[in-house]
Amino acid sequence: MSQHYDFEQSLYYNYDLFKEKSLQNRFFRHKDIVKLISNLGEKNLFDINVAGKSFEGREIFLLSIGNGEKKIFLWSQMHGDEPTATMALFDIFNFFSDTMNYRDIKKIILAKTKIYFMPMVNPDGADRFQRRNALLIDLNRDANRLQTPEANILMNVFDSLKADFGFNLHDQNHRYSAGHSFKSAAISFLAPPVNYEKQVNDVRLNAIKLIGSLYKMLNKFIPGHIAKYSDDYEPRAFGDTFQRKGTSTILVESGGWKDDIERQFIRKLNFILLLSALKQIAEDSFQNIPESIYESIPFNEEKIFDVVLRNLSLKKNDIKIRIDVGINFEEVFDKDGNTTYRKATIEDIGDLSVFFGYTDIDLAGYEIQDAKTYNEKAFTIDELKKTDLTEFYKNGFVNFMLKKSIDKEWVDLPLNLFTNRKKEIKTKIEIGAVPNFILQKDGRIDYVIINGFIQRVNKNSEYLGNGLIIR
Ligand SMILES: [Zn+2]
Repeated sequence: MSQHYDFEQSLYYNYDLFKEKSLQNRFFRHKDIVKLISNLGEKNLFDINVAGKSFEGREIFLLSIGNGEKKIFLWSQMHGDEPTATMALFDIFNFFSDTMNYRDIKKIILAKTKIYFMPMVNPDGADRFQRRNALLIDLNRDANRLQTPEANILMNVFDSLKADFGFNLHDQNHRYSAGHSFKSAAISFLAPPVNYEKQVNDVRLNAIKLIGSLYKMLNKFIPGHIAKYSDDYEPRAFGDTFQRKGTSTILVESGGWKDDIERQFIRKLNFILLLSALKQIAEDSFQNIPESIYESIPFNEEKIFDVVLRNLSLKKNDIKIRIDVGINFEEVFDKDGNTTYRKATIEDIGDLSVFFGYTDIDLAGYEIQDAKTYNEKAFTIDELKKTDLTEFYKNGFVNFMLKKSIDKEWVDLPLNLFTNRKKEIKTKIEIGAVPNFILQKDGRIDYVIINGFIQRVNKNSEYLGNGLIIR
C-alpha cells in the first residue's frame, strides 16, 4: 500500500479487499444479512445485539465497535427499497474485520470513537423491495407518532445512545442532477434543519462542517456530481428529529450514475465517505472547514431523463417540426417477484435543451416514422431468440406475433410481442405513450426505438433491451 496516497484515495484503489462479495445487487434480503451478521459474530470483534423485531418478526440488529468517548450512530435502509448504504456497511464491517491493512487508522478510530451500526432498519420492506414497512407506513414519517415497531426500535436505540454524530443513510431517485449542471447527483448530503426557520445551532453546525469536508474529499473522485437534498423542515422525519434532539445528523442520499443501475459504484463511494467521516470525527479534523462550503453545494434538481433523443423531425398534417424526445424507464417487478423488466414512457416532447439524458443522442436529420407490425407469420419465443433482427429492423418491423399467448407482460428480447391478430399497434408520439418508432434518413432506417431502447440498425450491432407484450 503506497504511502503516496491519502487515506481516501487508498481506499478507492483497495476497495476490492473489503467489498462484501455476497452482496452483488440491490435485491438481497433480510436472510442474507442474518447470515453475514452471524459470520461476523464468530469473529468476536463487534458487539452484536438484536435491538428488536420488525412487525413481521425479523430481527433488527445493532452492532458496535470501538472504545472511544465520541459516539457515532449509523442506520440504513429505513426505506426497504434503498439498500445501497446497507451494502457499504457490510464492506465497512469487512474493513474493521481485516487485520492486515490500515492498522494505524483503525487504532485511532477505535480509540477515539464508539460506532453503532443498524443496517436494514426496515427488513419487511426490504424483503418486498418496497419503501414502506409491512404496515405500509413510511418509517421516516413516524419519528413522532412511533406507531411502527421499526420506528420505535430506531428511536429507543437513539435515545439510549445520545450519539454525538448520526448518519441517516438513504437512496434517492437516480434522475436528480447536481443543481443545473448536466451531472447526476451521485451523492446528496443534508444537515437536516431543526425548525421551519432552518436555524443553524451548534449541533447542526457540526454536521454542516463535516459535510463540507466530505464534499471537498468526494469532489476529487466525482467532481460536480455531489448535491444537497431539499432542506425543507420535516418534523416527522428521523433526521430532523435527531438533529433537534442534539445529535449532529448527516443525511446521505445515494443517487444515480450512468450505467450503474445496481449502484455498486455509489456503494463504493459510501464506503469511502463513511470511513473518511469516522476518521475525521476521531481526529476532530473538520472543525476548521468554513460553513460556506456547505452553502455552496448545489441543491438537487430534476434535470435528467433516462434517454433524450434530440433534433428529430416529426411530420404531422404536412407540417414538419423539430423536437427532442425525453424518455424514462420504469423498473417493474415480474410476477415472480424476483426479476425486473423495464417499461419506457415518453415523458416530454419539445425543446429539452435545459435537460440531459443518461443516454443523450443528437439525431438531427432523422425523421420519426411509425414502427411496423410483422403479421405474415407467428413465432415462438425460441424462434425469435434465434432470429437475426437486422433485416426486420431495416424494414421497420419491431412488433411480432406470438404463436401462443403467454402469461407475461414483457419479453427479454429487443422487440414487442402481440397475440391478437387483429390488434393494431400504433406509434404514438405523445406524453405517456410507450416509445416505439423508427428513425429514417435518406430513405434508410438507421435506428429503431423499441420500448425506449435504441437499436442502431447494423448487422454488426448487438441489440439490447426488453420489449413488452401488447394485449
Ligand atoms: Zn429514503
